[in-house]
Amino acid sequence: MDGMHYEGTIIRPPSEADSVLLQVTVGCSHNKCTFCGTYKGERFRIKDDATIDADIRYAAGNLSFLHRVFLVDGDALIIPQDRLVRIMRRIREEMPWIRRVGLYGNAKSILRKTPEQLAELRELGLGIVYQGLESGDEQVLREINKGVSLDRMIQSARRVREAGIKLSVMAILGLAGRERSLVHARATGEALTAMDPNYVGVLTLMVLPNTELYARIQRGEFELLSSREMLEELREILRHTTMTRGLFFANHASNYLPLKVRMPGEKERALKTIDDALQGGIHLRPEWMRGL
Ligand code: SF4
Repeated sequence: MDGMHYEGTIIRPPSEADSVLLQVTVGCSHNKCTFCGTYKGERFRIKDDATIDADIRYAAGNLSFLHRVFLVDGDALIIPQDRLVRIMRRIREEMPWIRRVGLYGNAKSILRKTPEQLAELRELGLGIVYQGLESGDEQVLREINKGVSLDRMIQSARRVREAGIKLSVMAILGLAGRERSLVHARATGEALTAMDPNYVGVLTLMVLPNTELYARIQRGEFELLSSREMLEELREILRHTTMTRGLFFANHASNYLPLKVRMPGEKERALKTIDDALQGGIHLRPEWMRGL
């Protein structure tokens, strides 16, 4: 036993901080989003069964105080059903105390699974799928090279929910640049409403030097938002988001104003908090604190 076998960059949603991070793929099967530098230079592949099994055994022996598993990397749901089922079964056999397995799944990989296959995964412990919507605006989706239409985003979200699996959807502030900011915000709120996830996580765009977006900024083709404009965008997203239940977060470490809104009840108060911040009543975290 020599620990877990990690390769490349390992990322996870903030809410999976107390999970066993079990790496089942390396990289992202899409790997073309213009703002994403996480897996650049990484060739996507599924890890071999022997390595995955060794990690499950290691976690069972050494990390038994953790009650959740998160399958990394970028898009673990793309794994063919029989292999994913095998992994889920191994987790259940070796770590019967695990209460929830989560993973990132993009619209394509969700829609490749039939409703029956998703139900099978739920039976085996898949409790939550994290999906990157990024924007509800078709033009932005094209510009960032997401490779998915809005229709398919919404369809895939519904498929996850109908399988009885929790859904957490991420959107990104500032992703449309300055001119299209509020169009992106409205469309994103409307898309989130149609997806009706259990959780929404609104993150702030962080530009990484190894990305296409960075090059566009260098060429003067894309304008970053100020902190105030980010907050105006957040306000507009929240205003247009109706959720039947669940939580709307904008409290990632990279956000300007941490916000956790129980929907639908706390929405109006949260909008007021943002208004207060915009009017100077609440001190925004200074620039240097971003990323802490
Ligand atoms: S944002 Fe997600 S889908 Fe796009 S390249 Fe990055 S990991 Fe892959």
